[in-house]
Amino acid sequence: MKLTLLGAPGAGKGTQSDILSRKLGVPTISTGNILRSAIHDGTSVGLAAKSYIDKGQLVPDNVIIDIVQERLSKPDCANGFILDGMPRTIPQAEALIAHGIELDSVLSLEVSDEDIVERMAGRRVCPRCGASYHVRGTALIVRPDDAPETVRDRLHVYHEQTEPLKGFYEKLGLLHSVENVGSIEDVSREIFRSLGIVE
Ligand code: ADP
Repeated sequence: MKLTLLGAPGAGKGTQSDILSRKLGVPTISTGNILRSAIHDGTSVGLAAKSYIDKGQLVPDNVIIDIVQERLSKPDCANGFILDGMPRTIPQAEALIAHGIELDSVLSLEVSDEDIVERMAGRRVCPRCGASYHVRGTALIVRPDDAPETVRDRLHVYHEQTEPLKGFYEKLGLLHSVENVGSIEDVSREIFRSLGIVE
C-alpha cells in the first residue's frame, strides 16, 4: 500500500505511521526525521533546511521533492510505503503525481488546535530517530521547534498550506479522515477500518 498521512504538527502522524508500517510491512518515510538527521550530520540539505525548521516554516518544495524521490527509489519501498509529513503543499502533491508516484490512500488525522497546543507542551522526542515516544536507553529531548510560539506558527502554516490538500485528495477519491481522540489502540483500529485493512 502507498499511503500518506496528513495532520497538524503533533496530530499523531509519527505514532500511527509506525503502527501502520509494522502492520503492512512497509517502511515509513518521515521527511521531518530525514531533515533532522541531515541537520545533525551537517549535510548541505541540513544546512539549507535548518533556518526554515527553526522558524516553524516549510522547507522549500524542491528540497523536499528531491529527498523523497531519492528515498522512494530505494528497494525497500518497492512494495509500498507510508509517507509521514509529505506532501505538505499542493505543489509537492503535484510533484508526486508528475514523478509517477501514485498514492492508494491519504489518511488525515484530525485534532483540534487547542488539543494540539496542549499536547505539544509536554512532547519529548528521541534525538536519534525523532520518535516522540520512549526509546529504551536514549535520553528524550524537547525539539527546538516545539517551543509554544513555534508550534503556533507551525499550526498557522498547516492551515494555510497543508490543509488544502484534503480537498485536493478528496477530489481524487483518496481521502480518509479519522479523529485522533481516545487511546492509540482505538485510533489505530479506526484507521485500519477506514483504510480497509483486515486486523
Ligand atoms: P510535525 O509534523 O510535528 O510538524 P515534522 O517532523 O514532520 O513535524 O516536520 C518538522 C519540520 O520539518 C516542519 O515544521 C518543516 O519545517 C519541515 N518539513 C518536514 N516535512 C516537510 C515537507 N514535506 N515540506 C516542507 N517542510 C517540511
